[in-house]
Amino acid sequence: MKIIKNGRLILPDRIEENLAIAFSHRIEAIAPASELEKKYPDAEIIDAGGNYVSPGLVDVHCHGCGGDDTCDNTPGAIQKMSRMVAGFGVTSWLPTTMTYPLDYLRVTFSQIREAKAESEKDASAWGGAQVLGTHMEGPFIDVTKMGAQNPEYISKPNAAFTKEYEDIIRIVTVAPNVPGGMEFIEEITRDTGIVCSVGHTGANYDCIKEAFAKGSDHVTHLFNAQNGLHHRDPGAVGAALTSPEVYTEMICDTFHIHPGVFQLVCDCKGDHLVLITDCMKAGGLPDGKYDLGGQDVYVTGIKCVLESGTIAGSVLRLNKAVQNVWHNTNWPLYKAVFAASLAPARSIRLDDCKGSLEEGKDADILIADADFEIINTFVRGEKVYER
Ligand SMILES: [Zn+2]
Repeated sequence: MKIIKNGRLILPDRIEENLAIAFSHRIEAIAPASELEKKYPDAEIIDAGGNYVSPGLVDVHCHGCGGDDTCDNTPGAIQKMSRMVAGFGVTSWLPTTMTYPLDYLRVTFSQIREAKAESEKDASAWGGAQVLGTHMEGPFIDVTKMGAQNPEYISKPNAAFTKEYEDIIRIVTVAPNVPGGMEFIEEITRDTGIVCSVGHTGANYDCIKEAFAKGSDHVTHLFNAQNGLHHRDPGAVGAALTSPEVYTEMICDTFHIHPGVFQLVCDCKGDHLVLITDCMKAGGLPDGKYDLGGQDVYVTGIKCVLESGTIAGSVLRLNKAVQNVWHNTNWPLYKAVFAASLAPARSIRLDDCKGSLEEGKDADILIADADFEIINTFVRGEKVYER
């Protein structure tokens, strides 16, 4: 048993100055420190020193970091990345795939399946963020909004293939306007627990609304690789912003989306805003030229672009995304944290065990300083990162 005391607890609806948290692999109790110390006299006491005690962050859209990409299929890479993102406050995540031939993705998916099992088995041996499954971003997308995906490998939505990986695919990004797209959404959301997210699509407002009616309740990186908001053609963005029940991802790096737009989205989406990184392999590495799905990407500061100038993923850290929302909107810190913890956990239906500091949930806990830089990361009670 461990007790973290003298922290400012970030709860879903407020920050609590006078509560401590006792945990094993689960959160056992949240109460005043004196009470917990009496109840668990043998517990290891961790003094947070007045820093924030936050729920661990959940990244449902992250391709890679530290020189690795999920789709490189490098043995051991998922564990390496899981350890790196723990330093960015991430305690669970979906290693995200890109547009590749289905046979190639089979190799990636079998590695993700293995990584998921290993990370579940022993948090201490794994030593990083838990792998909850994958976000399959492509190849069931629209060539007119492919972004930095490789057009050669785009293929028709394939429900049979997707169902084979029902145990690991948590989210599949799909363009509802391509042939078979709408039927795919209907079938997958009817027959499986997989979330269908609309994205990489040239669909208009009506088509996106129809996709929501057919079962999709998630939007892949709002504004990017989809039709924007025009007053005579409200596009995917108009559909997402007017559908309060639909979870909506946003890459809050201030480059993919101007910070002046953050408040509008926060006001429209509220507790359905989901902060993601969409991080690629250069995350955590210096500026330079990198490879992304067989294409060259040039990284300068927070910008990642292809030779053509097309934006290609980010080098965003999820705790930085929280800071960016906190500093560019009227949202207090706890709301920005919610958008990177409980909202993403709910979006993939794992909020029974992930996403907030609540008794009974997994002990995925951060200690973060006044700027929300990460000091310690605990995954299911095991310390996996120390600054
Ligand atoms: Zn992506």
